[in-house]
Amino acid sequence: MDCLFCKIIEREIPADIVYEDDHVLAFNDINPQAPTHMLIVPKRHIATLNDIEEEGDLALVGRLQFTAAKLAAEQGFAEDGYRVVMNCNDHGGQTVYHIHMHLMGGRRFTWPAG
Ligand code: 5GP
Ligand code: ZN
Repeated sequence: MDCLFCKIIEREIPADIVYEDDHVLAFNDINPQAPTHMLIVPKRHIATLNDIEEEGDLALVGRLQFTAAKLAAEQGFAEDGYRVVMNCNDHGGQTVYHIHMHLMGGRRFTWPAG
């Protein structure tokens, strides 16, 4: 499949991988927007948040969030706080069409988002 993140999962394209289990992979963003900026992706290709199916995908999406919290704790900024973001389609700013959770930490973030 012609998908950048599937290729990272398959080790066809290198990435700085920080966590892996049977269901998810986490790696450092190539263009970090915070001292720590990781992407957490399901190993199964799901193009957008609109494509999540009730039958079969809900536990996987929960696992993305659970992994973000675990990595935030490992990185030492769980208590200070952090930002998780999932962008969907054009207006949401999605550029890679394989769902991913951004985990950003190590600085204070503003709200609302731009
Ligand atoms: P989106 O804009 O779809 O929410 O996020 C895509 C993210 O993927 C961006 O933050 C971008 O910096 C990151 N990215 C794009 N290409 C690569 C790559 O080849 N390797 C890594 N590690 N990150 C990438
Ligand atoms: Zn993919």
